[in-house]
Amino acid sequence: MEICTECNCKITQGVFDFSIENIGVPLCMPHQQWLAEIEENTTAENLTLYFALKQRGVPASIEHYDGHKHIDIVIHEAKVHIEVDGRQHFNHKQALSDLKRTYYSFLEGYFTLRIPNTLVHEHLDETAEYLVSFMNESYKRVHELYSGTTYRLLKCSTR
Ligand SMILES: [Zn+2]
Repeated sequence: MEICTECNCKITQGVFDFSIENIGVPLCMPHQQWLAEIEENTTAENLTLYFALKQRGVPASIEHYDGHKHIDIVIHEAKVHIEVDGRQHFNHKQALSDLKRTYYSFLEGYFTLRIPNTLVHEHLDETAEYLVSFMNESYKRVHELYSGTTYRLLKCSTR
């Protein structure tokens, strides 16, 4: 039985085949609908990286709105933000605005990783695997910091 990458529910072979053919990852019917809605407000690279993380078991959220701004990908458990950046982020005004966002997120306890689109295009698996290692280590540190006890890693893993 196949499962939905987003919610882990079981899906039929027909739904699986349709989803792989049209989307590239297995999604249940409600999540195919959900994707159609969020697709307009995100980039192909962000979606690709998001699903690569979900398929590795990372508890990620996409296009998260924190009350002030949208963040491409958030992993609350590890207190990490991921921003998937296109060429416009090389512009100095955008770069300065990015730096400020990184700073304010850091004040709230979140570390920001900025991933250029080119990494998603050219080195998706290696990038996703480094992010998983990063997430596991960050999760461990965040939880030890607040509890003083040693925490096991997140359940996600590299393939
Ligand atoms: Zn689903």
